[in-house]
Amino acid sequence: MLRRELDGLEEAVPLAPLCAYGVGGPAEYLYRATSTGALVHAVKTARGAGVPLTVLGRATNVLVSDAGLPGLTVLARNEAYTIDGEHLEVEAGAELPGLVTDLAERGLAGLEFAGNIPGSVGGAVVGNAGAYGRAVSDVLVGVHLLDGVSEHVKEPAALEFGYRTSLFKQLPELTVLSAVFRLARGERSALLEEIARDAELRRSKHPLEYASCGSFFKNPSRELPAARLIEDAGLKGFRLGGACVSEKHANFLVASPGASATDIVALAAEVKRRVREQSGHELVEEVRRLGFGQPAPR
Ligand SMILES: Cc1cc2nc3c(=O)[nH]c(=O)nc-3n(C[C@H](O)[C@H](O)[C@H](O)COP(=O)(O)OP(=O)(O)OC[C@H]3O[C@@H](n4cnc5c(N)ncnc54)[C@H](O)[C@@H]3O)c2cc1C
Repeated sequence: MLRRELDGLEEAVPLAPLCAYGVGGPAEYLYRATSTGALVHAVKTARGAGVPLTVLGRATNVLVSDAGLPGLTVLARNEAYTIDGEHLEVEAGAELPGLVTDLAERGLAGLEFAGNIPGSVGGAVVGNAGAYGRAVSDVLVGVHLLDGVSEHVKEPAALEFGYRTSLFKQLPELTVLSAVFRLARGERSALLEEIARDAELRRSKHPLEYASCGSFFKNPSRELPAARLIEDAGLKGFRLGGACVSEKHANFLVASPGASATDIVALAAEVKRRVREQSGHELVEEVRRLGFGQPAPR
C-alpha cells in the first residue's frame, strides 16, 4: 500500500546521515513530503495501513536507535511561507535559521532568538524551541495540525506549551502541518547583527565541530543549568565508547565518528547516575529517543 500510494518511497534508508547525531539504524521506509498535501497523504496512508509512523523535521533533536525505525519515516520537507503584514504562515518543513534570516532581511522581528536553532518549524513547535528566555510559543498565533486523519487549527493556549514541551510531545498522533506567527517591524541591519552575534556566541560556547543534538538534558531551572550539575559531578570529557561529555559545554553529549546510539544511551545513563549521586537532581532528557523498545525494522 505504501509503495502504491507514495511516489518516491525509499526502502531501508540509513538514517544516520540524515540525523544531527550521525548515529542510528535504517528507516524501513522513508518518504520525503515536499508539500503539505503530500505530508497529509503520507500520514493518512500509514495510519490506514496500520504501519508504525514517525514524522521528522531535520532530525536535530532525535536519537535514533541502532536498530532503526520500523514502518514509515516521513521527512517534512514542505517549506513554503507567506507573509501578510506582520503575520507569517509557514509550513512545518521550513528550516528555521534560513527562515529567520529571510525575515530579518525583510525587517520582520520576533523570531531572531531562534535564528541559530537548527531544525524545522514543525520540530521547533513540537519542542517549543527557544533560547535566552524566549520560545517559539511566545510568537505563535496558531498551528494547523493533523489529528489522526482530521485537520484543525489550534491556538497556542490549547497546545500546552511549556519549557521545551507541548501537547505534541504527549500525543504523537498529532502532526504539525504549518504554523502562524505574529511578527513586528524591526530594523533590518540590527536584526541581522543580532543573529550574527548569536552565531558567534554559540561558536564560542558549543562544540559545533562534533555531532550532537544540542543540549541533551533540560535545565532543572534557569538558575541551575544541567551543564553545571554535570560539570560539578566531574564529568567533563568523560567518555564511553564513541560518546563523550563535551569539554566545551558539559550538556552536549557528543558523538565521535564511529559512535553508536548505544554508546550515547550508555553515556546518558551514567551521567544521570553520577549527577543523581552528586547532587540529588534527576536529569530529564530534552532529546527524543526513537526506535528504542520497538520491533526492529524488517
Ligand atoms: C548544535 C545544536 C544546537 C541546538 N540549540 C538549540 C537551542 O538553542 N534551543 C532549542 O530549543 N533547541 C536547540 N537544539 C535542538 C533542536 O535544534 C531543536 O529541538 C529543533 O527545534 C528540532 O527541530 P527538528 O526539525 O530537527 O526536529 P526533529 O529532531 O526532526 O524532531 C524532534 C521531535 O519532533 C517531532 N516532529 C518533528 N517535526 C514534526 C511535525 N511536523 N509534526 C509532528 N512531529 C514532528 C519528531 O517526531 C521528534 O519527536 C539544538 C540542536 C543542535 C544540534
